[in-house]
Amino acid sequence: MSLDPRRARLWQAMDLGPLWVERNAHAAADAATGIAPAPGAVRSESFDELGTRPAEGAARDAAPHRALPIALPAGLRVQLPAAGDARAVAIARMDWSELQKSVAACVACPLCKTRTQTVFGVGHRGARWMIVGEAPGAEEDARGEPFVGQAGRLLDNMLASIGLSRQGETDSSVYIANVLKCRPPGNRNPEPAEAAACEPYLRRQIALIRPALIVVMGRVAAQSLLATDATIASLRGRVHTIVVDELAIPVVVTYHPAYLLRNLADKAKSWTDLCFAREVYARAALAG
Ligand code: SF4
Repeated sequence: MSLDPRRARLWQAMDLGPLWVERNAHAAADAATGIAPAPGAVRSESFDELGTRPAEGAARDAAPHRALPIALPAGLRVQLPAAGDARAVAIARMDWSELQKSVAACVACPLCKTRTQTVFGVGHRGARWMIVGEAPGAEEDARGEPFVGQAGRLLDNMLASIGLSRQGETDSSVYIANVLKCRPPGNRNPEPAEAAACEPYLRRQIALIRPALIVVMGRVAAQSLLATDATIASLRGRVHTIVVDELAIPVVVTYHPAYLLRNLADKAKSWTDLCFAREVYARAALAG
């Protein structure tokens, strides 16, 4: 099969070319031996050398989706805490406009004193896929948009590699938000109290969007969203569930693009996670 130049550039951007050869070799080995992948294996479906299914288009257009022939291990199932105070109750009732105004004026934690501006979120408010990161960095704080700069470009390439985009309002368009809406000084990790204060906003965003799948990026975001102190290594490759407004939403964990820029070898793992997310999404779409 000939290599589409646009896809080739994406693979180059993610340093994924060599991995793909190895992955096909594994798939061929599975087919030859008939040995089922071990429980917890993240994928076993046959892909072409571009990392795409035959006739793949945008992620939601890849019907008919084929369910994985493996049983996915149970992940964490987290009921996001019920709103227990007046502020959280009020946030849980807001529409998009009220929510955006509330975030912009928020002084609920000390990060309001050091931010340039809040970073609300970007993308399609009817998205099937939602991406959740940690907190704004310097560029996000300056521009008011999550995942910009070098890490943002890598995220865009990662999304494009599975047919998704932060642009537009189609089934391939994602919504992107952070756990925290304000930048921690010096890009330090958020304090638990800061994440707790900001959590009602993310919960309301999720409730308004009602995505079919959430991909959470980075240890801090994963630990915050899933209310766990587990390592990212133990959280990857499993389907977690959060429940928002009685809607159970599958969650898949992967590395943050900023981390991948510093740890190039882990881009391969991140690609595995994206393929896994695509499988989970396909299952959710079939079930839905
Ligand atoms: S981080 Fe969240 S809770 Fe803290 S001031 Fe910003 S918007 Fe408010």
